[in-house]
This record gives sequence, C-alpha cells and structure tokens, in this order.
Amino acid sequence: MPARCRVCGKSAVVRIPYARMWLCSDHLTAYLGKRVGETIDRYHLLSGGDRVLVMVSGGKDSASMAGILSALASKRGFEAALLHIDLGVGEFSALSRAAAEELSKRINLPLLVVPLREAIGADLPRLIKSVRRRSPCATCGVVKRYVANVAALRLGFDAVAVGHTLVDLASFALKGYITRSEEPLEAATPKNPGLSGLFVDRIKPLAEVGEVETRAYVKYAEIPWTDAVCEYKPVRTIDVEIRDFVSKLERDYPSLLVSMMRGVYARAPKTQREGVGKCSVCGAPTNTDVCAFCRITSRALGESGAPALHEFLEEKREVLA
Ligand code: SF4
Ligand code: ZN
Ligand code: ZN
Repeated sequence: MPARCRVCGKSAVVRIPYARMWLCSDHLTAYLGKRVGETIDRYHLLSGGDRVLVMVSGGKDSASMAGILSALASKRGFEAALLHIDLGVGEFSALSRAAAEELSKRINLPLLVVPLREAIGADLPRLIKSVRRRSPCATCGVVKRYVANVAALRLGFDAVAVGHTLVDLASFALKGYITRSEEPLEAATPKNPGLSGLFVDRIKPLAEVGEVETRAYVKYAEIPWTDAVCEYKPVRTIDVEIRDFVSKLERDYPSLLVSMMRGVYARAPKTQREGVGKCSVCGAPTNTDVCAFCRITSRALGESGAPALHEFLEEKREVLA
C-alpha cells in the first residue's frame, strides 16, 4: 500500500527521516516553512522589519532556502531579495546564472547579479590562476563572502542568508574537530553575528533541514535550479570524505545528527568581531594589514578590485531598492 501523508491522508511523496513521517507535496511545503520558521526563532536569525539578502548559487539548497524564505517573508514581516555572484566559470556559471534568474521570476523576489568580470575586472578562473597558494575553493570563498557582505552593507541589508544545510554544518563541525581548527567550527553555526557598519549577520536558515527535504521541495514546489558542477569542485579530499560520512549518518541516524548539532551550536566558539583591524586598502575589517580580498584581486589585476566593486554596486543600487 502506498504511504499516506501523516496530516491529510493523501498519497505521500517524501518521508522526513528525523520526524519519521510521510508527507504529501502540500504538507511538505508547509512542514518546511514551519521548520525554517522554528530555526529562525530558535537561533534569532531574523526579526520583523529586517532586510535579508539571500545568496542563490543556482543549486538546489540555496534555491530551496529562497523559496521557503519568500513564503515566510510577508507572514513574518521581513523583506527578502536575491543575490547571485556570476563567477565566470564557463558553462557552469552560465547555467547557474540562468537558474537564479528563473528562480527570481518563479518566487517573485528581486535579483541582483554580480558578474565578477564586470564588477571587479576579473573572473574566478583568472583569480585562481594568479593565487596559487590557496585552493580554488578557498579563493572562491573569500571572494563570495566579501562581495556578499559589501553588497549587503552598501544596499542596506541586515543579514546575508546562505543555503548551508544540516549536512553542510555537520561536515564543517566534524572538520573543525578533526583538524583542531576553529574556523570550520565557527562556520558550523546557524548565525555568525555582524558588527555595526562592518559585517552584516551571516545566517543559515536551513541549519536543521536535510538533503532529502530540499531535494523533494525543489521537485514538488517546482523551484528552478541546476545540478551543473563547477570544474574546481574537489573530487577526493578530506572535506569530501567527511561529507560522505556525514551524509551516511544523516541517512542512517537522522535524529542523532540534529541533536548532535544542537550540542555543537551550544559549544561552538563565538565569532570574534570586536577588535579587528581595518584593511589599509579598502577599509574592510581584517586581522592583517591588507584583507584577503584585496590581496587576491591585487595579484590578478595589479590593484584591489574593491573600488570597482563599490562603483558597480552603486550603479545597481536601484535593482534591490
Ligand atoms: Fe567555488 Fe569551489 Fe564551489 Fe567552484 S566548487 S563554485 S570554486 S566553492
Ligand atoms: Zn498532506
Ligand atoms: Zn581590503
């Protein structure tokens, strides 16, 4: 006999592993809205009147997050808009950008696209080529975080939302414990609080949502996304091994993963924002004389990409006004 929705008794489309219940497509959407709403409340991610800039890569997790937040925005009185960074990585970036543009139309939220080549004068492959000491993903991470934070600050947003799921955060946490480093542990929390005028809050509304749910959600809510794979995606590294292990945990012991992460959130090192210095080139907060973004872009371009980025954002101000 086919499984039935726990709420309405109609044919079910997905089983929520940690709640051990089957849901139909309508109640899956309602369930995820409730789950994300509870995460927002539990970790104080957003309040009424806040403006949140939702990072959409074109992939399924950030697309799910955007769809769920767009439905919650009017109910909870916050405002959401989308940001996509076009990295300029061949077909992967073309498909990702197209998916983000489709998503914006589908969920009716304004979208700002920041193409790196246009905004700072160099795309990701050029930056990667000139910065050999960092891995491609580390360079990409620095650039994406910087662009998102500056865009949010300049365009009047209170928070940047990223689509990290329960599996992502659990993978960061495990990496932090294995490598005994604080950075992944700090990233493994639902919220990294901002600092007035320098950082906006970085929030993860899918912190307690798993892969099964986002995959089902994009399918049944007809949310546009792409499964295009970036050519720099690592194939076999410690990060990949950790993620495979955490995904198996999620499959086999789903409720264990949620309770383990609540313990991690309670003990994770607090983001240290106070006392940071300022970049001597762009003024962004940093612990070194020149921030990582200015160092990376200067190596590729001969000068920091920060002034060009600021100018680009100024010109696009009305897109998300
Ligand atoms: Fe960036 Fe690495 Fe993801 Fe490619 S795989 S988009 S380089 S983080
Ligand atoms: Zn139902
Ligand atoms: Zn700088």
